[in-house]
Amino acid sequence: QLAGTGLALSGIGLGPAVSSAALPARAAGTGPVLLNFNESPYGPSPAAQAAARAIVADSGRYLFALAGELRDAFAQQEGVAAQRVRLFPGSSEPLNRAAVVWTSPSAGLVVADPTFESLGDLAAARGATVVKVPLRADGAHDVRAMVDAARQVNAGLLYLCNPNNPTGSITPADDIAWMLANKPPQTRLLVDEAYLQFSAQRSVIAQVMQRDDVIVLRTFSKLYGMAGLRLGVAAAHPDRLRELASLGDNPLPVTALAAGLASLREPGLVEQRREQNTRVRQATVEWLQKRGFRCLPTEANCFMVDVQRDGAAFTRAMAERGVVIGRSWPIWPQVVRVSVGTEAEMAAFRDAFAAVVGLKG
Ligand code: PMP
Repeated sequence: QLAGTGLALSGIGLGPAVSSAALPARAAGTGPVLLNFNESPYGPSPAAQAAARAIVADSGRYLFALAGELRDAFAQQEGVAAQRVRLFPGSSEPLNRAAVVWTSPSAGLVVADPTFESLGDLAAARGATVVKVPLRADGAHDVRAMVDAARQVNAGLLYLCNPNNPTGSITPADDIAWMLANKPPQTRLLVDEAYLQFSAQRSVIAQVMQRDDVIVLRTFSKLYGMAGLRLGVAAAHPDRLRELASLGDNPLPVTALAAGLASLREPGLVEQRREQNTRVRQATVEWLQKRGFRCLPTEANCFMVDVQRDGAAFTRAMAERGVVIGRSWPIWPQVVRVSVGTEAEMAAFRDAFAAVVGLKG
């Protein structure tokens, strides 16, 4: 059990070794090492970059057809109807809209603690009651407690981030199925799958073909490395998509559409990046565990480590050594989140970590 967190630790084995030769790293040695926003250190794939550059020549037009092409390609890949897919400039956009259309002073929100905070912050600012339910000991969402809370606050929305940010932990499909079977009918379930591609988990996206109360979010910001290009997807029943769209249109930059389409069509990209991330993450976590620093089980491109001292001060000391990591969460002040970078970036992380905690040799 990880001190002060209530979370159990799992054994972490090494995955298959994968060559990193095909994955260009960000120019080394320029500026600080950024391990704070769960971005991809590899950026858009070379094919995605080429597609974005090429489309600029045509960008004097609106190019509406390109958005349709990407939507169709995504829908086909995921096995859902294109009418149940809507593109947004990043997944923050539908998250923000969800807070506006489905929470209010009379319709609360239930989230995990800790989890990605933007939806909860926005719902609270709009006067909704936000219930934060601590994660279970294995890092999964406590679906039973969340469903109880949803009843108590007449929740308009339940938020489930899988894998969860900041922990990287997984909520099993059976738990999500239980939640769907037992939640109040008026409470919509929003499943944020921003990090799903890094994990071995299956998506719940097929549910949007069966039900009208499930919304699934994906983003091109993480595994596809397109955070600055802005592309996200919401999948849901057409009535729910209409509600999200009721706040206005959200035109997308053609560079994002072209890069997104190229990413979807690139064979093996997801597997290659998933394996690369898993290998580098596991090596870093093992290094920490061998030195007595406990880490939470994770399947995402980040991990949490108990630094056995004030997390905020630790984060500042790391930044002074040129390694910018995520912060601690109020519920666990000694645990910090670290994004998985390239091998070279994680070597810099280890050096800075050793210096800050005073490890010898
Ligand atoms: N969901 C989760 C869980 C995230 O961690 C993030 C970004 N940190 C987002 C959504 C939003 O990302 P974007 O708007 O770039 O798609």
